[in-house]
Amino acid sequence: MQKVADLHVHTNVSDSTFSPEKVAGYAKMQGLDAIAITDHDTCAAIAPAIMAAKGIDIEIIPGVELTAEIEDDEIHILGYFIDWHDNLFIKKLEELCRARKERAKEILTRLNKQGIYLTYEDLLEIAGSDSGSLGRLHIANLLYKKGKVACVKEAFTKYIGNSSPAYVKKFKLSPKEAIDMIKDVGGVSVLAHPKTINMETKSLKDILKMLVNDGIQGIEVYHSDHNNRESSEFKKLAGEFSLLITGGSDCHGLGKKEVLLGKVKVPYEYVEKLRQASTNIYE
Ligand code: AMP
Ligand code: FE
Ligand code: FE
Ligand code: ZN
Repeated sequence: MQKVADLHVHTNVSDSTFSPEKVAGYAKMQGLDAIAITDHDTCAAIAPAIMAAKGIDIEIIPGVELTAEIEDDEIHILGYFIDWHDNLFIKKLEELCRARKERAKEILTRLNKQGIYLTYEDLLEIAGSDSGSLGRLHIANLLYKKGKVACVKEAFTKYIGNSSPAYVKKFKLSPKEAIDMIKDVGGVSVLAHPKTINMETKSLKDILKMLVNDGIQGIEVYHSDHNNRESSEFKKLAGEFSLLITGGSDCHGLGKKEVLLGKVKVPYEYVEKLRQASTNIYE
């Protein structure tokens, strides 16, 4: 049978509710042969996931998901087959995580101003005290847990979404900075979930042109939020710009409406192509 992979998976070191061990086990149950761990701004889950995967014959691809800013909007850039042991890289990620913590406190202050009193301790309880990467999904789940919103989505539309009253920007890299950060550790950079990009002022084609100029190497054609028509459109763009194709579920455990792990399965040949494009040496 053809081997398959899910190339976009979060753990509870960022904003999923699943531990790295649980992710590895769950992926096996879903019939996956390989998964990429792509937490926001942290690689702390990679070592435990690799350990957990050893006994159950599933490959863990080291990855990361960075946020970059374009014209007041944000895009996410995935990095694959990165050298996640690199000291300078780890230091940069730690800096991004520190900035995330300050930003989370600022969001809580803004919520307080609107009469919603949540403490940083409450947030850490949701995120896990050793959480490396604090994000809005943690705050959304806290709002839900405290009965302030009917669902996670409402937390974003009412309070913390990009144009909502308690939204606070986080430290963002330029696309080139994010791409270079991945390249500097031998990784392959890929534009994540292109569907979420705001295309009011620029077309995706124009944005891709700019990203290709900055050195982006791939595009996430398949994603839980993409329908068939959208995936075909992104695949066509991949062809036009000679970009690698990836796909993944973007599973956040129980952090979103449903557990998505394994809902998107891509052929293992995509993994091989990423490995070949990486400048790290993998056996
Ligand atoms: P952050 O990196 O802290 O800005 O948070 C980004 C996270 O929030 C990602 O995991 C997104 O998937 C999630 N997110 C952003 N907008 C929404 C939304 N409208 N509904 C649910 N999750 C969202
Ligand atoms: Fe997330
Ligand atoms: Fe993302
Ligand atoms: Zn993601």
